[in-house]
Amino acid sequence: MKFDYDLFVIGGGSGGARASRISAGEYGARVAVAEESRMGGTCVIRGCVPKKLMIYGSQMPGEAHVARGYGWREAEVGAFNWPFFRDKLARELNRLEAAYTNGMVNAGVDTYKQRARIVDPHTVELADGSRFTARYILIAVGGRPSWPGIKGQELGLVSDDLFTLDHLPGKVLMVGGGYIACEFATIFNGLGCKTVLAYRGDRILRGFDEEMRLHISQQFIDTGVDLRLNTTPVELEKDGEEIRVTFADGTQENFDDVVFATGRRPYTNDLGLENTGVAIGNRGEIIVDEWSQTSVPSIYAVGDVVDLVNLTPVAIRAGHNFADTVFGGIPKPCDFSLVPSAVYIRPHELATIGMTEEQAVERGPVDIYMGGFRPMRSMFAGEDTRSVMKLIVDVETDVVLGCHIFGPEAGEMLQMVAVAMGMGATKADFDRAIALHPTVAEELVTMRKPMRRAGEVPPATERHSAVS
Ligand code: NDP
Repeated sequence: MKFDYDLFVIGGGSGGARASRISAGEYGARVAVAEESRMGGTCVIRGCVPKKLMIYGSQMPGEAHVARGYGWREAEVGAFNWPFFRDKLARELNRLEAAYTNGMVNAGVDTYKQRARIVDPHTVELADGSRFTARYILIAVGGRPSWPGIKGQELGLVSDDLFTLDHLPGKVLMVGGGYIACEFATIFNGLGCKTVLAYRGDRILRGFDEEMRLHISQQFIDTGVDLRLNTTPVELEKDGEEIRVTFADGTQENFDDVVFATGRRPYTNDLGLENTGVAIGNRGEIIVDEWSQTSVPSIYAVGDVVDLVNLTPVAIRAGHNFADTVFGGIPKPCDFSLVPSAVYIRPHELATIGMTEEQAVERGPVDIYMGGFRPMRSMFAGEDTRSVMKLIVDVETDVVLGCHIFGPEAGEMLQMVAVAMGMGATKADFDRAIALHPTVAEELVTMRKPMRRAGEVPPATERHSAVS
């Protein structure tokens, strides 16, 4: 059968853009991409990129504080000009969107700025009614914010809304305890907004290493974020210009803005999947195998829509592997067993890879190597924030199973740890490396003795007991 295209990609975000560019540019496939919003997707337009720039912007008052500690006695950042930043951010995102589009067009990809639906396993229909056939369809439509389903929630915002605000809130309520709630709590707090972080459980960042969760909670408290645990809003109402929030315990409080960072869901609704027989999981995610292939042989899916590891580099790798496998003749299954990630909060961020202590203990005996110290840069400035590094080492094989770094630019350090761990590095390999002095990272290769054998309960410190 003759198809209009070899590949029709739905979604021009990280995964879809990479898959289409490599399939067309490297392997000569005839490729089209449909995107209903903006090329670049969540990461570029309303996620990682603008968020990281906002993190940088929000850390400037902290930098001025450090500068004063180094003798720049007059250092002050002055008032933050949100419209200036927001408009500059918008221009930068326009530039990146154009770069994404050009990357695809230059590779020979046809781009359609329209919504697409699947009609059958080889046919896609665009919003204007035009139909195209393709040997393969790649679904890369990502995810969408998930709302908590409470009364008056439409008065609240989600992360998509935060890059284009008319003005910054004087007082904001962040709801949730995951990546987005924590990162935007840092941002708003740094930009001078009174920030309340309300989490329904008793410790934020569920799934992360327990000790690291405590350090992060403490940092929020130390930096002035009003962290409220076991706190759930149940209703939002308009009260003049403000929003009155009723919490589950019956208390009420007014905010300028309420932001729901209560997770994200695969964006599979109205995609026409019912026309194909593609198997879907109970969160709406498309089920794929290690080749990103769905239960329908001509349909593949990558990125947040498969809801495996919802991170940009994972979508990019899956998209690239798809192109190599299907059009390049180089079979590359996806293995996402060792994925680094970071929570970009300030002044110290958390970067992590591999097992948490809690996961490792389930598997067998492990030694815990820990270093806690005040980095010289901030200590000299008179700041008290401590860095913590943690290596989790298999007692039997000496293999490093997990690494967790809470410190300045922890993500930058962890990327190289990911290389070592991907090669199966042992603790002896870490020890053999000569320290690079004076750095924060040198602590990773100078932890000589285990602090404890996992399973033992760490002694609760007074600092921790405030939030545990
Ligand atoms: P997360 O899944 O990380 O966190 C969702 C949070 O919302 C959890 O704390 C959860 O609580 C809470 N929650 C869920 N439902 C409700 C509810 N009905 N009422 C109150 N609280 C609720 O999602 P995010 O929205 O923070 O981020 C989405 C995804 O985006 C992340 O999983 C990540 O993959 C990606 N991301 C990655 C970033 C990075 O790499 N730095 C940055 C931003 C996003 P509980 O824990 O109790 O379930």
